[in-house]
Amino acid sequence: MSSQDQAPYVAACPECDATQQTDSPNEIIDFYRRHYRVTGHDIKIKHADTDLDTGITAQDLKGIIRQLEEHHQNGVPVGIIAAVMNERGLSVKETLDQIHEIRMGGGLYEPQDDHLCAF
Ligand SMILES: [Zn+2]
Repeated sequence: MSSQDQAPYVAACPECDATQQTDSPNEIIDFYRRHYRVTGHDIKIKHADTDLDTGITAQDLKGIIRQLEEHHQNGVPVGIIAAVMNERGLSVKETLDQIHEIRMGGGLYEPQDDHLCAF
């Protein structure tokens, strides 16, 4: 596949050759969960729609989710959060671990599956 055919979201495992290309950011998360369950490997997002970061000035995960909510009123897809955090050097697993931690502290809620809002 040439780069011109590249899907909006591309993720790959740094430890083996598994890759996923998709139009839907949350399919990246599904790919990570399947791959992690079978292999224990973390994945990195290779490519994501680049305008995701536009207007995101927050540094912390919760603040970033709050800013992304302006464009995702019914909750920010976890895959988009992972893509933005990937730009900041976090792997998908690291992002999901942080989300879990903040949720346990009551800072986030999930209005629908795999979509998050900040309190
Ligand atoms: Zn792998």
